[in-house]
Amino acid sequence: MSGIMQGKRGLIMGVANNHSIAWGISKALAAQGAELAFTYQGEALGRRVKPLAAELNSDFIIPCDVEDIASVDAVFAAIGERWGKLDFVVHAIGFSDKNELKGLYADTTRDNFSRTMVISCFSFTEIAKRAAALMDENGAMLTLTYGGSSRVIPNYNVMGVAKAALEASVRYLAADYGPKGIRVNAISAGPVRTLAGAGISDARAIYSWNQKNSPLRRTATIEDLGGSALYLLSDLSRGVTGEIHYVDAGYNITSLPTLDRLRN
Ligand code: NAD
Repeated sequence: MSGIMQGKRGLIMGVANNHSIAWGISKALAAQGAELAFTYQGEALGRRVKPLAAELNSDFIIPCDVEDIASVDAVFAAIGERWGKLDFVVHAIGFSDKNELKGLYADTTRDNFSRTMVISCFSFTEIAKRAAALMDENGAMLTLTYGGSSRVIPNYNVMGVAKAALEASVRYLAADYGPKGIRVNAISAGPVRTLAGAGISDARAIYSWNQKNSPLRRTATIEDLGGSALYLLSDLSRGVTGEIHYVDAGYNITSLPTLDRLRN
C-alpha cells in the first residue's frame, strides 16, 4: 500500500470499540500506509480491540492501564523490542467518575480530582517522555481535548480542569521536544457519541445543541477527526507544534445560538 504514512510506525492508545475517536484516527492512518500498534485497557476491551487491529492488518496489541506505570513502561519496552523506533503516538485516553460529571464542579472530591488528572492529563506527559526516547527528528504526538477546557460546559466539571492542564502540557511538551524535531499537538473534538462521552450527564442534549448551533449544523464524526489527525501526524504539518486544533464543525467560534433558534 502507498500513502503519506508509508514507512511510518505508530502507537494508538485509547481504542475501546469502533465508535472510539482513536478508531477513526487509526482507520485514516492505516489507509495512508501507517503500521499500527494498539494498547487496550483490560481483557474485556482487549477482546474488542484484537479484531479491530486485525482489520487494519495489525497483530501488535499490548495491555496498558495508565494508572499502573509498570504497564506503561512495558508498552514502550515492547515497541522498542519489536520496532526499535517509533514515528508517532496517539493518546486518546480520558476518565473521571461519572458521579462527578453532573451537578456542581465545586463538589468534586479530592480522590476523583487526582485520579482524573493522572489518567486524563499526566498520562500524556508520561507517555510523551517514553515515546520521545524512541523517536527521531520527525516524531509526532497527538492528544485529544475538548472545549470544556476554556469555557464552562454543563456537567463537564473536573474533566474541563483536566483538559485545561492537558492543553498546557501540550505546549510545554512541544517546547521540551521541539529542539529534537518532535512535534506535539492536540485536537479539540466536538462532542462524539462514545463510551467516554456517554459518561457525561445530559450528553445527548449537549450533542444536539452542537448539531443545531455549529456553523456546519452538525457535529464532527470520527472520520473528520481521522482526517485532521492524519494531517497533524504526517509530514504535511511539519511546521506545526504546540497547537490546539479544533475539529468541531466550527462550534467554538459561536457565541449566541443560531438566529432561527433565537427567534423561536
Ligand atoms: P472512548 O471511551 O472510546 O475512549 C476512551 C479510552 O480511554 C478508552 O479506550 C479507555 O480504555 C481509555 N482509558 C480510560 N482510562 C484508562 C486507563 N486508566 N488506562 C488506559 N486507558 C484508559 O471515548 P472517546 O470519546 O473516543 O475518548 C478519547 C479521547 O477523546 C478522550 O481523551 C476524551 O476525553 C476525548 N474527547 C472526547 C470527546 C467526545 O465527545 N467523545 C470530545 C472531545 C474529546
